[in-house]
Amino acid sequence: MQQRLGLPVELLTPRNVEERWPYLSPDRLMGATWCPTDGFLIPDMIYTEGFRRAKELGVQVQQQTEVIGALLGADRIRALVTNKGTIEADWFVNTTNIWAARLSPRIGGMRLPVSPLKRYLYFLKPAQPVMDATAWQQLPMIIYGVGSHRGAHSRPEHDLLLLAWAHETEPETHFSDADQDRIDPPFRHDNGIDNYGYAILEQVEQFSPLLANSGGFIATTCGFYGTTPDANPLIGCDAHQQNLIHAVGFSGHGLMHAPITALLVEAILSGGIDHGHVRLPAPFEHATIGLDTFDPGRAFERSRREMVVL
Ligand SMILES: Cc1cc2nc3c(=O)[nH]c(=O)nc-3n(C[C@H](O)[C@H](O)[C@H](O)COP(=O)(O)OP(=O)(O)OC[C@H]3O[C@@H](n4cnc5c(N)ncnc54)[C@H](O)[C@@H]3O)c2cc1C
Repeated sequence: MQQRLGLPVELLTPRNVEERWPYLSPDRLMGATWCPTDGFLIPDMIYTEGFRRAKELGVQVQQQTEVIGALLGADRIRALVTNKGTIEADWFVNTTNIWAARLSPRIGGMRLPVSPLKRYLYFLKPAQPVMDATAWQQLPMIIYGVGSHRGAHSRPEHDLLLLAWAHETEPETHFSDADQDRIDPPFRHDNGIDNYGYAILEQVEQFSPLLANSGGFIATTCGFYGTTPDANPLIGCDAHQQNLIHAVGFSGHGLMHAPITALLVEAILSGGIDHGHVRLPAPFEHATIGLDTFDPGRAFERSRREMVVL
């Protein structure tokens, strides 16, 4: 599908993989995909540059301003009530992700099935370089198998290797702000070797002993995914308030999906929808995307679940 849409994705045999990335063992591989135009986002750059550009375009950014309610009338939000006064507007877009299920009823909106699920990241520092700096920077994102007890993945982060996996866990619906950074003992990298970080390394070692044994963990960090029942986001109009749009519930995809989300929200706001579909911009202008898939009120038992949420 990616090739059909025009992306230069290559299908590689295990031998191709070994030739290009000799530190990956081909024995366990059936094949791989590689897209040379993929890249990694640098979070601090995204936020700093995002703020700068928004302000340049005339956006007024109000920080430390909590929405605590709304003034409603005739199935519309007339104004948001915040801890710093009221804000009137024609349209309101709810982009509070893991807080979305709490916020929506406060402003007269529908129930949103967004569950906060804890996710961890680990940082491995090589004891000494195991390849030259350019090869390290060009390490691809590697997914160490898919399926039961698999799915660990890694990518380079400056001179470190960033690793992650998705463990079974219950939603923490009543999380506090501090809970976002709370690292439970079984997940601490410095808590012996019987912890989750080392379970990730075990998977890495089966495919790349060189990377797995290159050094040790120096940090664990964490946050919440805002997860929906089918692991796809909720993007679309509210069921109760006509001028409220939701764009929330991004699981592990929120940064990646930010550009398409902005496009869909803009299309809803500007009426750029044709029979429930939005046309993609160049170079994908031959394709459209259906808004039904992301309807906040969809019947989840009938929707297709995204299976590869990393
Ligand atoms: C460990 C981890 C790894 C991840 N890795 C990736 C990845 O590799 N690729 C990827 O694409 N995504 C990844 N994600 C997911 C990604 O980080 C999120 O999907 C994304 O940050 C969501 O952005 P957002 O703008 O929708 O929400 P947020 O960035 O969470 O912003 C929501 C904002 O709403 C504000 N807010 C909440 N309540 C109120 C209120 N009442 N009034 C006013 N403001 C309010 C909050 O303060 C916050 O600023 C990862 C997430 C985690 C936890």
